[in-house]
Formats: sequence, C-alpha cells, structure tokens
Amino acid sequence: MLLDQPANVSLEDLEKIVRPLRAAERVAIMSGAGLSAESGIPTFRDTGNGLWADVDPMAVASIDGFYRDPAKVWAWHNDLRSRLAGATPNAGHRCIAELEALLAPAEVLVITQNIDGFHQEAGSHSVLELHGTVKRIRCHRQCGFAAPWEDVIPERCPSCGALVRPDIVWFGEALDSETLERAADAALAADVFFVIGTSGVVQPAAGLAVLAKDAGALVVEVNPGETNLTEFADYSARTSASEFLVALCRALRSAC
Ligand code: NAD
Repeated sequence: MLLDQPANVSLEDLEKIVRPLRAAERVAIMSGAGLSAESGIPTFRDTGNGLWADVDPMAVASIDGFYRDPAKVWAWHNDLRSRLAGATPNAGHRCIAELEALLAPAEVLVITQNIDGFHQEAGSHSVLELHGTVKRIRCHRQCGFAAPWEDVIPERCPSCGALVRPDIVWFGEALDSETLERAADAALAADVFFVIGTSGVVQPAAGLAVLAKDAGALVVEVNPGETNLTEFADYSARTSASEFLVALCRALRSAC
C-alpha cells in the first residue's frame, strides 16, 4: 500500500496534533532506541558507538548464541547493564509520563521496544515491554522463576535447575504472545498512535504502526530521519524525541 507523503509538522504547528489528542479516548505511544539516545544509550544502528559496533549480534543476543556460549552472552549483557546503570530517563520519557495526566480521562499506553525500564522510572503507569527488560532475570525453561536482576545471579534456576538468563527477547525468539496481543489490541483501538525514535525495521513491533493506521488512527512519527514507517504516518516531526515531546506537553498545558 503506497500512501501520500506525511505532512511535516513543525514545533510551531503542533495544534494539528493537539486538537485530535484532546478529542482522543485512546492514545498509544510506540517508542524505540532513539528515545533513549538522549539519555546517552546508543541506538542499535548508531555508527561508531552503537551497541553492536564491535560484536556479532548473533553471538551475543540470539538464542543460538546463548546455547553455544552462555558466558559470552552474559558478559555482553552485564556490560549493557552497567551502561544503563549510569543513565537516567530524559525529558522525553518524563513528558510521555506526563501525558497520562494531561490527556485524562483518555487512556495512554506506552508500547516500547526498549529494554531499559526508563518509561516506568519516569512515571508511566501503563507500559508494554515488547522486548523484555534488563531489570529482570528468569528461568530459560520458563518454569515460572523470575527475579530482579541483582549483582549476584544464580547460574541455575533455583526451582528447576535450568539455565538462568536475562528476561530479554533475543534474535531468533518469539515475543511474549500476551504482550504482543495487548499491543495489537491497543494499536487497533488507538485514536492517535505515536511512533517515536524507532527505525521501524524490527518486526513485529513495526507492524503495529501499520495496524493502527489501517484501523483509522492518526499516526504521528517523531524521528530526525525518514524511516520505514514514514509512509504510514499522517504527520512526521523531524526533531529529536525530547524536543518534540517537551513542546507538545507545553502546548497541551496551555490548552488546558
Ligand atoms: P534502531 O537503532 O533501529 O533505530 C533508532 C532510531 O532512532 C533511528 O531511526 C534514529 O533516526 C532515531 N533517533 C536517533 N536519535 C533520536 C532522537 N534523539 N530522537 C528521536 N529519534 C532518534 O532502534 P529500534 O527501532 O528501537 O529497534 C532496534 C532494537 O533496539 C529494539 O529491539 C530495541 O529492543 C533495541 N534497543 C534498545 C535500547 C534501549 O533499551 N535503550 C537501545 C538500543 C537498542
């Protein structure tokens, strides 16, 4: 399906988004690594300092890699976790949390591909983590054991003896079906669907924006560059996530 080019929306032009937002009953916000870039967490596709700059993703973040060499996978994830430990949510995360109050009684749901836990830290109450979280470990066999990711990690599941692993969805693995279903329901029901800081290349997450568009949502993309999802957006804001979200919240506050 080829759609019209989206209208670029400038920060002076936010009324075009504020009006439908005020009338919305359900708002969904899909976020990606670009939202956390301003917290100092590199995106996957950054050149130079990207998380994948010196590693083969299939060796350190795939289910096959884990079967081959669990210690190597743990080492990379421990490094990732230390990078995240020094970072905090940015103004963009905080504005997304504030949207709950600014748009009440509308429902505001965050669907994130990020594994950093920043949305919850910033105060968002309804967050679906499509790709899991670096905040938790679990039994690889899924016997039910899960625990916060502390500094000391048991190598084996205390309940069934299987390997313990980060609660993150790796390459070669399916997303949790209940989480994905809830995200798809939210995309279908959304009046306004934001796509913020994602390249739109990772499926099935990217497909949610298309689902929302087909179901009649106003789709608003926020990304400094064009993406695979641009053609599905009604509006594209070519700014950083935090710049856009700070301006949006300011406009909503003054419209209260
Ligand atoms: P991606 O790396 O493929 O794309 C990042 C996108 O963000 C790009 O389109 C880029 O133009 C945009 N961007 C960069 N800076 C931005 C800014 N300041 N404001 C707005 N947009 C900006 O990331 P993705 O689409 O999320 O998909 C890849 C996978 O990356 C996901 O599965 C996710 O789990 C994983 N990831 C997560 C984190 C995290 O948790 N913080 C970090 C890196 C990767």
